[in-house]
Amino acid sequence: MCEQRDKFISEKLSLMEERCRRNKLSLTVQRRAILENLASRSDHPTADQIYAAIQGKITGISRTTVYRVLETFVQLGLAQKISNPEAKARFDADTRRHHHAICVNCEEVIDVHAPDLDSIAIPDVGQAFQVTDYSVNFTGICRNCLAKGGAAHITERGVVS
Ligand SMILES: [Zn+2]
Ligand SMILES: [Zn+2]
Repeated sequence: MCEQRDKFISEKLSLMEERCRRNKLSLTVQRRAILENLASRSDHPTADQIYAAIQGKITGISRTTVYRVLETFVQLGLAQKISNPEAKARFDADTRRHHHAICVNCEEVIDVHAPDLDSIAIPDVGQAFQVTDYSVNFTGICRNCLAKGGAAHITERGVVS
């Protein structure tokens, strides 16, 4: 697992070098540190969480820089942003199609790999919109929160509150 993670990080970093070169972006220490941190974790951090993790290591880095760099990574296809309208944007270095389960209590996000969900037919959403991608978000209660007694009650719509 650890070796796999190391391999993933180094592949990500070389992909970044290539994408930066192609887009004539300089390969800054900040960009490298931010991608390295994002690729090393699987908790789908917010920009603030990445900032907190690297702030002591990279001198003079600002929160704004972290936000901006993460947006650049999304544009370069190095990371994806998990959309959850109710919460802060979360970032994921894994850009392959996969899905997420989100805890409504603590906002933990875990990966869901389910081949059945990877090939669903895109419904007709009308002429005014062209679907380019999708992912499925499941909401519920994570194991930690369940263990702490943060038990769920499931409403009629299946929404846990
Ligand atoms: Zn939780
Ligand atoms: Zn993910």
